[in-house]
Amino acid sequence: MDLNKEVIIKTVKNKSNSKFRNFPMVPRVVFGSGSFSQLGDILLPMRKSSDAPMIFLIDDVFENSPLVNRVPLLFNDQIIFISADEEPKTAQVDILVTKIKTDFQEAPSGIIGIGGGTLLDLSKAVAILLNNNGLASEYQGYDLVSKPAIYHVGIPTISGTGAEVSRTTVLLGPEKKLGINSDFTTFDQVLLDPDLTVGVASEQWFYTGMDCFIHCIESLNGTYLNAFSQSYGEKSLELCKEVFLGVLSPAESRDKLMMASWHGGMSIAYSQVGVAHAMSYGLSYVLGTKHGIGNCLVFQHLHEFYPEGVELFHKMMQHNNISLPVGICKDITEDQMNKMIKVSMHMVPLWENALGNNWRNTITPSKLRSIYNKI
Ligand code: NAD
Ligand code: ZN
Repeated sequence: MDLNKEVIIKTVKNKSNSKFRNFPMVPRVVFGSGSFSQLGDILLPMRKSSDAPMIFLIDDVFENSPLVNRVPLLFNDQIIFISADEEPKTAQVDILVTKIKTDFQEAPSGIIGIGGGTLLDLSKAVAILLNNNGLASEYQGYDLVSKPAIYHVGIPTISGTGAEVSRTTVLLGPEKKLGINSDFTTFDQVLLDPDLTVGVASEQWFYTGMDCFIHCIESLNGTYLNAFSQSYGEKSLELCKEVFLGVLSPAESRDKLMMASWHGGMSIAYSQVGVAHAMSYGLSYVLGTKHGIGNCLVFQHLHEFYPEGVELFHKMMQHNNISLPVGICKDITEDQMNKMIKVSMHMVPLWENALGNNWRNTITPSKLRSIYNKI
């Protein structure tokens, strides 16, 4: 290549990498109670041939439920039920990809994930790995995916994670819990039907809802805050307050929490999460604690970092009759404690967002140990 051209390309690349992120958004979204009935029409133009199936990855909580009969199956489409008891793993993604490649001669027309954050993340990862060679763990990190994913659709059945809008899919791999962060991760289509969240148990509704609330608090109180994130974060926080402290009808709550989740996800897209997430990653890695409840377990003890947010959180717990489990870290070994601290301290951007460049002055292993000991 001519040297000048190379220099120009490098300069442009460096410039674009260094300052403003060019952020992908979900290009199409349907919202509304009952909108699931439109899924067949939405998928129809995306079907490549009668041999290229739509693959529906569905939370197994819906097995034998009326929802299954409403899935618009055509030709050789397939439903795969998946348990959300454990959070998604890279090996699980690899197994699904191999199964789909073995079961069908043609590549699928699309992957449709129906469920909570667990199923949404699995679907994004499967869609990426169907078009990119190798193992899912090889793509954990930032911008390691080179080819676009297969057409993928996200249909949340519980609200809060923001996984429906984010450009990441969080996976537990052999070495780390880390997302596949890429421009190809974001869904091509999202369908928001608040009716799908009708059956969620009240505690789970609270835990996953609090994931959203905590996204807002961590984003709005972070050093990375900017007008983009703030605009989404403030709207999301307002909706969370209505849902968890107000007196709404169940239908209004479902509508509003679904939109709170969307805005909360958009808010952290252009900023970061903070202390609760950094510490809850440690809990999750060592004890398998799930994301929603893990965030709550940590957040209740973060008065010194988020005084107003934590006060609101306790009010919300009271208002919704929630009591969190206690003694989670009581019997852990010294090794486990050290591992938790290490995993947590590794989340540098989260700490930087929460406390600025000098975060290490506040966050020491003994500081984290003292918080974990309260959980
Ligand atoms: P989940 O998907 O793990 O589901 C929680 C429980 O709710 C499960 O038992 C599930 O079966 C049940 N459930 C879901 N919908 C239901 C319904 N309509 N009726 C009855 N039960 C229902 O929960 P979650 O909190 O949504 O997701 C957590 C996951 O999301 C974690 O793996 C986390 O890492 C991930 N996450 C991803 C992002 C992202 O941007 N990609 C952001 C935050 C969290
Ligand atoms: Zn979260």
